[in-house]
Amino acid sequence: MQILVCGGAGYIGSHAVRELYRAGYEVLVLDNLVKGHREAIGDIPLVEVDINDKPSLEQVFQKQKIDAVMHFAAYSLVGESVVEPAKYYHNNVLGTLNLMEVMLSYGVKRIIFSSTAAVYGEPVELPITEEHPTRPTNPYGATKLAVEGMLHWFGQAYGLNYVSLRYFNAAGADVAGDIGEDHQPETHLIPLVLQTALGVRPEIKIFGTDYPTPDGTCIRDYIHVTDLANAHLLALEKIINEGGSAIYNLGNGSGFSVREVIQVAQEVTGKLIKVMEAERRPGDPAVLVASSEKIKKELGWQPRYADLKTVISTAWHWHSKHPDGYISK
Ligand code: UDP
Repeated sequence: MQILVCGGAGYIGSHAVRELYRAGYEVLVLDNLVKGHREAIGDIPLVEVDINDKPSLEQVFQKQKIDAVMHFAAYSLVGESVVEPAKYYHNNVLGTLNLMEVMLSYGVKRIIFSSTAAVYGEPVELPITEEHPTRPTNPYGATKLAVEGMLHWFGQAYGLNYVSLRYFNAAGADVAGDIGEDHQPETHLIPLVLQTALGVRPEIKIFGTDYPTPDGTCIRDYIHVTDLANAHLLALEKIINEGGSAIYNLGNGSGFSVREVIQVAQEVTGKLIKVMEAERRPGDPAVLVASSEKIKKELGWQPRYADLKTVISTAWHWHSKHPDGYISK
């Protein structure tokens, strides 16, 4: 079986590529390398194509026999999406429409889609289940929800089988330590905290200390990127073996505050991490914690690296070996 992994050179995509390869699938990565890194996929074949370039996408499907697609290629910065929504609709919605139209015209009817907890917006109930209302509070979440709408209706009309995975906070790195998180710019808490421990950054800003949480800082559900990647394999097996479609949350089901993350990072790294208390970041809900019961029950998914200390240790392994990230930017 050959799996086309769009956005496979990015952070989560490259971890999925590794797990697919380990499981014996034939993998072809499609990435424009704007955010992705060639080194993140080693010797796995790559086609350097943009999902907005429909003629080139068609050529890929014409030349290759693709059995299923995993689709990670998207912009994912909440703040940027508020300032530049057109960029987000163009890439995340239009690019995905291109991809799905080409897939369907070549008879490829299986897709695993990277969705996000941002489709839910401000939580009205915790933990968040898949039944929670979807009212995104930013264009990023809105574009992912728009694609989920496309998936649903394409499923009804054209027999597309899909699994949409709504990620909470992806973190950590493959245990081998040779691939990991390298975003330009970096905005995520755990890499920023670890770069502070390394001295690459002078301090970590805590965005808001007056939230209605025990220590006043935001609580998030951090899930190891390899556990996320393995959920993609289970989702793929499901649609290969049984067909059908589904939406699943992916988190660990337990929340940690920003201060707790910094504390655990200090324990893991043995370094004192300088903190600066700062204003709230606009749009941050106080608490986001997932219920992942549905994927556990239906697909038998179980996180292997659920412990926050393990998540941060694997990230530290990567960051301490690659303080400047990948060599090619
Ligand atoms: N955060 C922070 N300082 C930073 C980056 C993030 O305090 O430099 C907080 C952020 O406000 C949120 C949590 O850390 O409460 C996780 O943020 P991240 O950007 O990693 O993920 P998000 O929850 O936005 O997807």
